[in-house]
Amino acid sequence: MLKIAFIAHDRKKDEMVNFVTAYEHVFEGHKLYSTGTTGQRIMEGTALRIHRFMSGPLGGDQQIGALVAQNEMDLIIFLRDPLMAQPHEPDINALLRLCDVQGIPLATNIATAEILVKALERGDFAWRELVHKYKPGEEV
Ligand code: PGA
Repeated sequence: MLKIAFIAHDRKKDEMVNFVTAYEHVFEGHKLYSTGTTGQRIMEGTALRIHRFMSGPLGGDQQIGALVAQNEMDLIIFLRDPLMAQPHEPDINALLRLCDVQGIPLATNIATAEILVKALERGDFAWRELVHKYKPGEEV
């Protein structure tokens, strides 16, 4: 079971709900997280249960970032709106940076999201289970 986070900016929320609905059968076996409104929208449209953090502008990206910093998050689907300025741009950049620090698979558009979910379905994320199993500094 992997930890997967969903974030969608306002004009991308319909796209996110459609995407998660299409791959509900893949996501249902995992532990799911999201920012506030994104998670609410996904739960309204699917039977999935999602742990919702704060809304993005109120700190949700940072809460997800905290899990990334600890190498706890395994996959992030972040459908950003590239044509609209966001008040929490620094938080967004911080989250993307932490994904690069830890080497966390991150999709920021639907095309990459499709590729990553198909990889997830195939079992290509098994290496993340090993990351959790052999985390440095933790007793095994
Ligand atoms: P939201 O946050 O899911 O609460 O809308 C995402 C964002 O807009 O950053």
